[in-house]
Amino acid sequence: IYPGSVNAAGQQATLGVLGGGQLGRMFVHAAQRLGYFTAVLEPDAQSPAGLVSHHHIQTGYDDPAGLAQLAQLCQAITTEFENVPAQALQTLAQTRPVAPGGAVVGIAQNRIEEKAHFAACADVSGVTCAPYAVLETPAQVRAVQDERAELLPGILKTARLGYDGKGQVRVRTAADLAAAWAELGGVACVLEKMLPLTAECSVLVARGWDGQVVSFAPQRNVHVNGILAVTHAYEGNMPPALATRAREAAVAIAQHLGYVGVLCVEFFVVDDGTEHGGLVVNEMAPRPHNSGHYTIDACDASQFDLQVHAMAGLPLPQPRQHSAAIMLNLLGDVWFDASGQLREPDWHSVLSLPGTHLHLYGKVQARAGRKMGHLTITGPDVVRVKAVAHRAADLLG
Ligand code: ADP
Ligand code: MG
Repeated sequence: IYPGSVNAAGQQATLGVLGGGQLGRMFVHAAQRLGYFTAVLEPDAQSPAGLVSHHHIQTGYDDPAGLAQLAQLCQAITTEFENVPAQALQTLAQTRPVAPGGAVVGIAQNRIEEKAHFAACADVSGVTCAPYAVLETPAQVRAVQDERAELLPGILKTARLGYDGKGQVRVRTAADLAAAWAELGGVACVLEKMLPLTAECSVLVARGWDGQVVSFAPQRNVHVNGILAVTHAYEGNMPPALATRAREAAVAIAQHLGYVGVLCVEFFVVDDGTEHGGLVVNEMAPRPHNSGHYTIDACDASQFDLQVHAMAGLPLPQPRQHSAAIMLNLLGDVWFDASGQLREPDWHSVLSLPGTHLHLYGKVQARAGRKMGHLTITGPDVVRVKAVAHRAADLLG
């Protein structure tokens, strides 16, 4: 589907996205820059992506009429929101190319299936996930103490609908575990052993319909309260041997899934007594990812450009990072002062720093923990980028 082309019915080449959040907004920007028209299906009237798209279909994600309209308008469709019903993607795929497909999105939406996939391809990826148990019944929860005591202390995570640390409880004892499982509503969960993390990283992979694969170097991520806070993307952000292993593992995982589109795979680096530590796969996101936002300003093709290329069947050139980068997430907290009063962040000072790229997502109301935007700092070397990032973080703190 070439940008700028017009089909027999007189329709401009149009790409669609299920979901209207910030990832959809940045996808729309990338698609429009190439000359595509865009359509967003999103129930919220004032969504980050809906506000900037040519078409906004304002229905639920599983509304048959809305999905039919999206298919009618678009020549290819993607998703930006992890919890979009996989079934909606399957429905769209009956008449249009959909990338990623409903089946792989369904796997990524369920930690039990996701871990089973990681296990199934461990031989080719060379990585395993943290030791875990599936907990779906009270009997399984009770059995942990006698049969899987090595998983405590651990983290109990709901199998579905968790994100940004939501749907997770840290548990030390069997009593904690029983209480936490009840607190999470007695739904299907996994209990993961708490690992001694020394770092976290993620890898973005893009794979085309023809199986061509490209990837970015791993970025190192720092989470605060379960939410991504800072991404470090530069040469030397982690030991090269680990970086190579993570990148190869992510590519293997995408290939084993037959994935089409952009996939982000998250890893833990754990202290296992070896020099650089061991690599453990954590989870995958079937879409561009918050940790890849730096690619917009620091690479010659961003994760969103690659999503456009992959879904539309355009060539997938290997992206090149041209600048060292640090990304700071801007949560709603930045809009409140120490006494809880709303304030305007000091953009004048932030934007006077060299190499700062501000991205705000068009969300009107700031709330604590809400992702309002991000700031990417680029520069010729990591020393300068770090200095500016520290200064910017101070100004925004
Ligand atoms: P989410 O879907 O919310 O991103 P994650 O499984 O990635 O859920 O967990 C969020 C964060 O919690 C991780 O980035 C990591 O910092 C921490 N965490 C998760 N699992 C473990 C574990 N098994 N051991 C230690 N820390 C963990
Ligand atoms: Mg995560």
